[in-house]
Amino acid sequence: MTALPTDQTITDLLTEGLSACGVSADALKESAASANLPARSPITGQDLGTIAADTPDSAADKIAAAQQAFEAWRDVPAPVRGQLVQRWGQLLGEHKEELAKIITVEAGKTPSEAAGEVQEMIDICEFALGQSRQLWGKTMPSERPGHRLMETWHPLGVVGVISAFNFPVAVYSWNTALALVAGDAVVWKPSENAVLAALGAQSLLARAAAEVGAPENLAPVLIGGRDIGDVMVRDGRVALVSATGSVRMGREVGPVVAARFGRILLELGGNNAAIVTPSADIDLALRGVVFAAAGTAGQRCTTLRRLIVHESIADDFVDKVVAAYRTLSIGSPTDDGVLVGPLINEGSYEAMQSALKQAESEGGKVRCGGGRVLADERPDAHYVEPAVVRMPGQTAVMKDETFAPILYVVTYSDLDEALEIHNDVPQGLSSAIFTSELAESERFLARSDCGIANVNIGTSGAEIGGAFGGEKETGGGRESGTDSWKAYMRQATNTINYSGELPLAQGVEFL
Ligand code: NAD
Repeated sequence: MTALPTDQTITDLLTEGLSACGVSADALKESAASANLPARSPITGQDLGTIAADTPDSAADKIAAAQQAFEAWRDVPAPVRGQLVQRWGQLLGEHKEELAKIITVEAGKTPSEAAGEVQEMIDICEFALGQSRQLWGKTMPSERPGHRLMETWHPLGVVGVISAFNFPVAVYSWNTALALVAGDAVVWKPSENAVLAALGAQSLLARAAAEVGAPENLAPVLIGGRDIGDVMVRDGRVALVSATGSVRMGREVGPVVAARFGRILLELGGNNAAIVTPSADIDLALRGVVFAAAGTAGQRCTTLRRLIVHESIADDFVDKVVAAYRTLSIGSPTDDGVLVGPLINEGSYEAMQSALKQAESEGGKVRCGGGRVLADERPDAHYVEPAVVRMPGQTAVMKDETFAPILYVVTYSDLDEALEIHNDVPQGLSSAIFTSELAESERFLARSDCGIANVNIGTSGAEIGGAFGGEKETGGGRESGTDSWKAYMRQATNTINYSGELPLAQGVEFL
């Protein structure tokens, strides 16, 4: 463990990032005219300044402006719309390191993970550029002579994106790159814990939009907390709300959008598990498990939270995990070699302590970690040792997502039992099996009830090419690759009659 950086080091890092991304230093000045939001770094716990926030009225004005921009953008040919995301991707590539610095300061990610997040944005821009020439409909034979029957896809309208703190910009780009080529405008309510990274990403998009001649106000940002998100959720001009965050948030947002018959795409909490079988390559499984469970300080929606190990190898495997955990260096993500950074705030730390207490009361034994470190140096920052807890079975605490690095371990005797334990939680995002047996792998892929099921790789670290999302309380949404573009468009079925007659379908006679 090394000393934490000074306030000045963090401020310098942030200033470099913001100015390179074209965000004015005025972004961090209190505004007399509007509400204000504090900005903070979890690395030191220090206040970074105050950001002028939206009011419900200014948020509604931005939605109205986006609606106007949509009216123009929808008529631009899709391959031409692709030029906007192409340019955005180029600018993100040119400023990858600087945008990553803002992510590190605000979300506490290591530079490598922060740069990976920006790379994901670049990747989805490339993907969306290709997609702009592939917004395919189908043509099918009509049952009537002299008729053509086809399905076509059209821009949807204003898309509202709500994002979480732990992927402050990548998830936004998954939605935005596809929505823009689909012909939509995008209004974004980023996490109140990561507004500066959002401003950096948006500033680069605004620059790309100006360069390619896209309409103004095509992608405004709403700054604020839940109340400002709520304005967007209730606004009937927002055709689709794509919301990423906790299950609690989804429970609040989902019914409101449904009540106005809006479309909703939910990407909510996970409670991800990995099964380790006796045939697994143990070294590979160990690395996969430790990265997925302790990486990003347990603050990924895909973080590994439950380990289901065969009883014949459990003691040995858990000893190896504990030994690997003891080698993880915890501290400021700005320091070389640090693998575990801070929790986002005190609330996360409290939630972790309370889950550990509950686990113990349910018969769990903490094998390692759980304690706070570096508190004397920085009482307002919250660093913890990732915890491994042996559980007597899958108890109540294991059915909730605690957004902190706790890995619960249970054992199984046959694969059916492992699968039953695996699926017996309310969430269904990501899952993994470590095995060398084809039959075990195939059975797992058929039976895991998650949106993501992996073999011989951990639960976290998805690529943009495959659709991303989960089942059950994770919300059922899919974003990013393959067919996800359809969520941002509306489908129409067209029948064209060139016969000169008017035959009715199903042979119906009338007049
Ligand atoms: P959060 O639910 O506290 O907040 C997420 C976003 O929702 C924020 O922008 C917040 O302002 C907004 N919000 C909250 N309540 C709202 C309401 N009633 N109306 C409108 N907006 C509202 O989540 P968080 O702490 O920022 O992020 C962590 C959570 O996000 C974890 O549960 C994690 O699993 C989940 N997550 C899921 C995915 C995924 O793709 N499935 C990805 C990242 C994070």
